[in-house]
Amino acid sequence: MITAYLGLGSNLGDREAHLAAARERLAALPGATLAAGSPVYATEPWGDADQPGFRNQVVALELDDSWSARRLLAALQAIEAALGRVRDPGRRFGPRTIDLDILLFGGQRLNEPDLVVPHPRLRQRAFVLVPLADLAPDLPIPDGQGGGVAEALAKIPFKISGNSLWSGD
Ligand code: ATP
Ligand code: CA
Ligand code: CA
Repeated sequence: MITAYLGLGSNLGDREAHLAAARERLAALPGATLAAGSPVYATEPWGDADQPGFRNQVVALELDDSWSARRLLAALQAIEAALGRVRDPGRRFGPRTIDLDILLFGGQRLNEPDLVVPHPRLRQRAFVLVPLADLAPDLPIPDGQGGGVAEALAKIPFKISGNSLWSGD
C-alpha cells in the first residue's frame, strides 16, 4: 500500500462539479481507495476580478502495490482528458476544466523530464500546502530540503478567510 496525495484544481464551468467528478473517477481506479479529501478552497485572483477563481482541493489516494507514480500520472491524464475539455462541437480541444497533479507518492522521489515527485512547485503554493496540511500536517516532504508540510506552509505568505485563500503578502 502506498498513499499518494493529489492536487485537484478547476477554474472553468461548474468547478465544484469537476472536482466531484474527478474524485469519483479516482475512487473507481482499480486497487485505489479515496482515503481522505480536504475542504475545497476558493483561490481568488488578486486584482482582476474578471478572472475566474480556482477551486482547489487535496485528496489522499491509497494504492495497492500494482501502482507506480508513472502509472498514476497516466491515469490522471486520462481522467483530465475525460473531464477536462468543454464539449463544444465546433471546437476539438476546449479549455481545461480540471488539473490533477501528483504532489507526493509515498516517500518516493522522482526526477524525470515529464514526472517530478514531490511536485516541484509544492513549497511555493498556499493553495496546495493549506489543503495538504488539513490532511497531513506532519507529513515529511521527501524532496531533500527537509521538514514537513506544516513547516513549509509556515514559510510562505498567504491569507485565509473561511474557505477563501489568497496567496502572497
Ligand atoms: P504546474 O505543474 O505548475 O502545476 P500545470 O499543472 O498547469 O502546471 P500541466 O499542463 O497540467 O501543468 O502539466 C504539464 C506536465 O507536467 C504534464 O504533461 C506532466 O508530464 C508534467 N508533470 C511533471 N511532474 C508532474 C506531477 N508531479 N504531477 C503531474 N504532472 C507532472
Ligand atoms: Ca497544476
Ligand atoms: Ca497538471
